[in-house]
Amino acid sequence: MSRLLVLAGPTAVGKGTLIRALRDRHPELWVSVSATTREPRPGEVDGEHYHFVTEQEFTSMTEAGELLEWATVHGKHRYGTPRIPVESSLIAGAPSILEIDVQGARQVRRNMPEALLVFVAPPSWEALVSRLEGRGTEDARERERRLATAREELDAAAEFDEIVVNDSIDDAVAHLEQLLGLSR
Ligand code: 5GP
Repeated sequence: MSRLLVLAGPTAVGKGTLIRALRDRHPELWVSVSATTREPRPGEVDGEHYHFVTEQEFTSMTEAGELLEWATVHGKHRYGTPRIPVESSLIAGAPSILEIDVQGARQVRRNMPEALLVFVAPPSWEALVSRLEGRGTEDARERERRLATAREELDAAAEFDEIVVNDSIDDAVAHLEQLLGLSR
């Protein structure tokens, strides 16, 4: 059992849904809020979904050592995990989750070897493509970009401590609860 769980996995695999389900069931769960240089999507709230920052602000954060890890994701925008909130949460003993990409997960493995790295995998490639299309939040070009990253990410699954296949949400949530030592 680890108190820090790093959740990675390809686009549209359902990481957000799993985290929401876990949070509903376990209000004590702490979920990191990343900084990003991408624009907010409709409905996204600054400080809640992400800290939306400028390129310049992001660069200052990296230079000041404020980020536990960061990466350019989908070849486009930068995303990173503010370090101090993670450390505070772990000191407080709260079960904690970072939802980040594979490059970021590798950095956390180096910086915090006690973290448990969990890869969320789709039941099949076709399921992933149809989820991304069904979500309807990206245009065709952005979907292509995300699927290209997804292919690379799936190849990295073997580097992770655990693989959770998101076929049934209930089963996937139960698996994550077990890894975090949360009761059902
Ligand atoms: P989106 O733009 O759809 O919100 O997120 C795109 C990708 O960025 C997701 O796959 C997510 O895992 C990754 N991501 C979000 N926050 C972070 C972060 O703090 N660090 C890293 N390395 N990746 C992140």
